[in-house]
Amino acid sequence: PIHPTAARRPNTLVVQSENTQYSDEYITSHFNNRGATVNLSEGQILVTPTVQPYEFQTKRAVSKTGLMMIGMGGNNGSTLCSTILANRHNIVWRTKEGVQQPNYIGSLLRASTVRIGSEPGTGKEVHVPICDVLPMVHPNDLVLGGWDISGVPMDKAMARARVLDYDLQRQVAPYMALLGKPLPSIYYPDFIAANQEARADNLIPGDDKQAHLEHIRADIRKFKQDNELDRIVVFWTANTERYSDIIPGVNDTADNLLASIKSSHAEVSPSTLFAVAAILEGEPFINGAPQNTFVPGVIELAERKQSFIGGDDLKSGQTKLKSVLAEFLVNAGIKPLSIASYNHLGNNDGHNLSAERQFKSKEISKSSVVDDMVDANRLLFKAPEVGPKGVPVGKGEHPDHIVVIKYVPAVGDSKRAIDEYYSEIFCGGRSTINIFNECEDSLLATPLILDLTILTELLTRVKYRDLSAESKNKEFAPLYPVLSLLSYMLKAPLVKPGTEVINSLNRQRNALESFLKACVGLEGSSDLLLDTRIW
Ligand code: NAD
Repeated sequence: PIHPTAARRPNTLVVQSENTQYSDEYITSHFNNRGATVNLSEGQILVTPTVQPYEFQTKRAVSKTGLMMIGMGGNNGSTLCSTILANRHNIVWRTKEGVQQPNYIGSLLRASTVRIGSEPGTGKEVHVPICDVLPMVHPNDLVLGGWDISGVPMDKAMARARVLDYDLQRQVAPYMALLGKPLPSIYYPDFIAANQEARADNLIPGDDKQAHLEHIRADIRKFKQDNELDRIVVFWTANTERYSDIIPGVNDTADNLLASIKSSHAEVSPSTLFAVAAILEGEPFINGAPQNTFVPGVIELAERKQSFIGGDDLKSGQTKLKSVLAEFLVNAGIKPLSIASYNHLGNNDGHNLSAERQFKSKEISKSSVVDDMVDANRLLFKAPEVGPKGVPVGKGEHPDHIVVIKYVPAVGDSKRAIDEYYSEIFCGGRSTINIFNECEDSLLATPLILDLTILTELLTRVKYRDLSAESKNKEFAPLYPVLSLLSYMLKAPLVKPGTEVINSLNRQRNALESFLKACVGLEGSSDLLLDTRIW
């Protein structure tokens, strides 16, 4: 068995097929995208299978990658740095359970596998770690840096977070101290809770947003140059901001947004400013918090600059479970009537979320998670009424869904989540499932930040071309800038405008798995397992 922390192995997966070509520089694969178009006509569902040929080209050499976090000195940021350093320097530590090794458990890429085929003869299934399907950056190799409005040095930030065992903190502290203190950041008090003000002692001076933008862009360039990097992933893991109002003429288009930054418009948030800085530098930006950083102007700018963005909000605990349980119920033909979720936590994130406007952002991001499962089953849930022009009115029938978050300092980083699923079952019966989930928040979130960073770097190296006869442009092109393939790790996945959000965790994982396999020319290895069903 391959342990997730096993020393790095060469990427040895080789696909032998006329669909897959290897050169020193690229892996090129032919892929048939199979789907179906459906026409609903009177009394009939007319389905036409479709096939579209594509080619994927993946650059084999991984980029030397930097991870610049906004909020580096927070619980997630400091935990990420210290656990990478523990892995990199192979620090083992003692807990009351015994000796603990560092590892990457909780990382989809490094600690989970995909079924790739079966052995001839025995038919025994073969699984490989996801990180071996295509060349990916090893987390130990990420160059770490970033910003924080709190100037506490990283070793002290780790102690302040109260996440890691003392014996690990003690040993990793000298390495953390070498990271120094985070770069000064921008602080617009209107966007995060007033209770954060005492932390804000490490600020880029002034209140000119254009000057702030240029300062951050210069930070990104300098970090890239100083560390001789090919790629930087800029990652928002700072406090949750309030929602930005979408105001026509201010942030609705790329040009309006850039003009609003020039005029230091009050509605441009720090996270939007960081996103714009990353896009203008051509580096990917990921939003790990729930606020609407990606106002329409940011998405348009990312499209214009062909620069990658992904978000929103890390999907670490309660929501991950909810997207699985709700799907299980609906797919089992059971009808959830209400889902009631309560959380309490005692870390600084919880403190910030105790303010109404910041809680609102979290509430919105947590609320839509069952929508697609409900939409997919109109046997259980009535479809929306159709208005005069054939346009649906409202959302149709939907389970009641509430989310409550409370700040309870005593529990620190150990978040408690209580969820009640109340459902209708056979012939008027009722079923209630209660889940009580206790988890160390930052230890769940850190591997997600790693997965998002490493996948994003990989997706910057993948190009595609459409080989169908109708295709006008047969040149290789980068993927669409909004990286919805990251959805598995995100609570409220940002998708290409006009396309549907998929919340189902299984579908999100299948999409990622199918995509990675397609890039090496493997398609259609479904769970049909036909040879086990026939003579
Ligand atoms: P935290 O409060 O410990 O850390 C946030 C850090 O951001 C703080 O050090 C703060 O000083 C800094 N900060 C605030 N505004 C800033 C700015 N403008 N520029 C630079 N730094 C700034 O919080 P955390 O537990 O590390 O969580 C970070 C974010 O991730 C939060 O928004 C949280 O909602 C989100 N999140 C966390 C989880 C999880 O499981 N831990 C899950 C989903 C989302």
